[in-house]
Amino acid sequence: MTLILANATLLPCSPAMPVIGNGWVRIEGETIAAIGSGTPPTVPGAEVIDVGGDVIMPGMVNPHCHMAMTLFRGLGEDVDDRLYRYVLPMERKFVTPDMVRAGTALAALELIRGGVTTVADMYYFEAEVGRVVDRAGMRGVVGQTIADFNPPDHATIDAGFALTGELVAEFAGHPRVTPSIAPHAPYSTDIAVMNRVARWADDHPDVPVQIHLAEMDSEMEWCAKHHGLRPVGVVAKAGLLRRGLICAHCLHVDDEDIAAMAAAAVTVAHNARSNAKAGRGIAPVEAMRRAGLPVGIATDGPMSGNTLDLFSQFGPVTMFQKLLGHSRKPMPVVEVVRMATIEGARVLGMDARIGSLEPGKQADLVRIDLSGPHLQPVYDVYATLVYCGMPQDVTDVIVAGRWLMRNREVQTLEPKKVLRDALQVASAFKAEMVRIDATRD
Ligand SMILES: [Zn+2]
Repeated sequence: MTLILANATLLPCSPAMPVIGNGWVRIEGETIAAIGSGTPPTVPGAEVIDVGGDVIMPGMVNPHCHMAMTLFRGLGEDVDDRLYRYVLPMERKFVTPDMVRAGTALAALELIRGGVTTVADMYYFEAEVGRVVDRAGMRGVVGQTIADFNPPDHATIDAGFALTGELVAEFAGHPRVTPSIAPHAPYSTDIAVMNRVARWADDHPDVPVQIHLAEMDSEMEWCAKHHGLRPVGVVAKAGLLRRGLICAHCLHVDDEDIAAMAAAAVTVAHNARSNAKAGRGIAPVEAMRRAGLPVGIATDGPMSGNTLDLFSQFGPVTMFQKLLGHSRKPMPVVEVVRMATIEGARVLGMDARIGSLEPGKQADLVRIDLSGPHLQPVYDVYATLVYCGMPQDVTDVIVAGRWLMRNREVQTLEPKKVLRDALQVASAFKAEMVRIDATRD
């Protein structure tokens, strides 16, 4: 099957980040066959769609998320101890395969509508996440969390590894869903466990490893107290600082840490909004990128960041670097779009297959309508996308040549059912909040 999208403002996100006016892209089956400008060559039997000048660009990549936590969005905001007061007790009580399925489907719906085609997740009952991502037609890296704090799906570390083994067995060789292992963080996954993950990863070189790293002041204190090291040093001591490690946050990294991370060829998922909302600080994104570390733009979970809208991250991503540099120059708009596409793909080790519109790559792309009043006039399409773009400007989403959304209608999920299921689970959370408040105050 051949599909040609013509008359596009084409942003292939190839290395020079060109803007191709009157551009076209030809999709054969699930791959991109060719791109160009002007009138596309005629292909017998092809479906040709004139997109009327709309942007066609690669589907965006969100390299750090906890999809099922959509169901906790907005719960207990501005309560200082909300993690211990609400979240951890509720996770222990309510996180089940059903809850994960409902929350992940809500997240998938939001991600697709916002033009995100690939997401990296770390949570519990992760096989459920993989199944929802598959059903939604998205691409995902689904990470089974391993942690010491008696999380909802594994009472022991052995049980966590067993779940990971089942996840890998279920999705090995899947074209869109990549199983992953996710030791939670240096302070919540003992160094011996991280070392066990490292040895496990030696035997599973194709399985990406995800971790929260150098995120919090309390983590710095914990690492100093227990190991006399900074978080990056603890992970290195555990043998886990290695190619294929996806590090979320990385706020507290100094020049030495950055050099060690670059030498080890790890990658970084930057969560500007969720870091800011928790008052944690600003990650040195420019310094990390200068050192050669790929840095992608992530939302974090919707409890920490409230939204899975990548557009809403773009402003903070560039503004925070400008604040650090006391200048307009840091983090130009074109670099923000690069991070949201090809660099995000590099963070997940998938840049050979996705992240740019180049012949031979998977046909993962989005169409963006620029006619909204909040977008006009357009002088620099990258500036428009970074400072003015919104999820509702995305009209069409294609993954591996398949329409996930067409004319703003999601094709792979039933939005009404997804919402109904999510709200049904959330109603129990509301009742529990009331109960907790009544017993605590
Ligand atoms: Zn996180």
